[in-house]
Amino acid sequence: MNPVELFHEDGKSAGVYYCSKCEKITGKGSHKQAEDCCEPYICKYCSLPVDSEVEGKYKMVHYACQEKADFDKQQETMNKAKKLEDWQGYLWYDEHIFVCMEDLTDYMDCQFSEEENWPEFVFVAKPHELHKVSIRDILKIFRKKAFLTNLLMKSLLKIYN
Ligand SMILES: [Zn+2]
Ligand SMILES: [Zn+2]
Repeated sequence: MNPVELFHEDGKSAGVYYCSKCEKITGKGSHKQAEDCCEPYICKYCSLPVDSEVEGKYKMVHYACQEKADFDKQQETMNKAKKLEDWQGYLWYDEHIFVCMEDLTDYMDCQFSEEENWPEFVFVAKPHELHKVSIRDILKIFRKKAFLTNLLMKSLLKIYN
């Protein structure tokens, strides 16, 4: 915000600026960064400025806008998803992978005291044979089904750690 230029003792420009609000020096040739410093971010969802006093420092979007976007995305995923009554295989819930339904229900028992609080739906995940998966496949899956990729990445991490 309102960049201030710094000078050497001999009066020559140092080519360095600082933000006049927080006085952070933004580096060499940094007029633009100093100008943008302390300016509010523009929320990508509603195009209004994000007040850091309200939303917290370095927040680039409004909390409410992000929450709505996440909710809409989840609704869209749910609407598109094929609903199954039964599944033999991997399951996905709350960033965890379960090898079978019994593991998942054990987890639910620990997480929720009442069965009626269990989630109505969880995701299923089909494992991919690691030796058949190329980087191209991983990228393809990444674009289509992020939750499957996550499963894949976890398998890969386990092998290389
Ligand atoms: Zn600043
Ligand atoms: Zn917003």
